[in-house]
Amino acid sequence: MTAAARRVRWLRAGLLHPVVARPGYWFATFAALVWGGILSLGRLSRHDGLIVARKCPRWAFGRGGTTIGAVYLTHDRITRGVLEHEVVHRAQWRRYGLAFIPLYVAAGQDPFGNRFEIEAGLERAGYTRPQSRNGSDGDQ
Ligand SMILES: [Zn+2]
Repeated sequence: MTAAARRVRWLRAGLLHPVVARPGYWFATFAALVWGGILSLGRLSRHDGLIVARKCPRWAFGRGGTTIGAVYLTHDRITRGVLEHEVVHRAQWRRYGLAFIPLYVAAGQDPFGNRFEIEAGLERAGYTRPQSRNGSDGDQ
């Protein structure tokens, strides 16, 4: 192992250690709770450790909703499957802390190639691959 590889390994172990990652998760949760609490006008509820801030304006989150720390910001995308998906994102935040942000971005915009979205479950979040032109979807 090279000296650079050893440094990266130590840096990774340090950033992902719970003593470092957990306060980052708490900070993200606090910030999202303030943000979601204001934008949802206090329409907060709990689901399996997740804090759901509903009726947020659509500009306040990405796609159909975004989990930041333990807080799921959405307008009205609150099905059982979506909530189960977001609970996994909460666990990812707990594991990685603020390092989750660059790790998620580095994993890519395409949910079908993003390991965090795959781990959270693509189907239950409603991600479907576009049908191919010569597929059997019957819309020719
Ligand atoms: Zn997701």
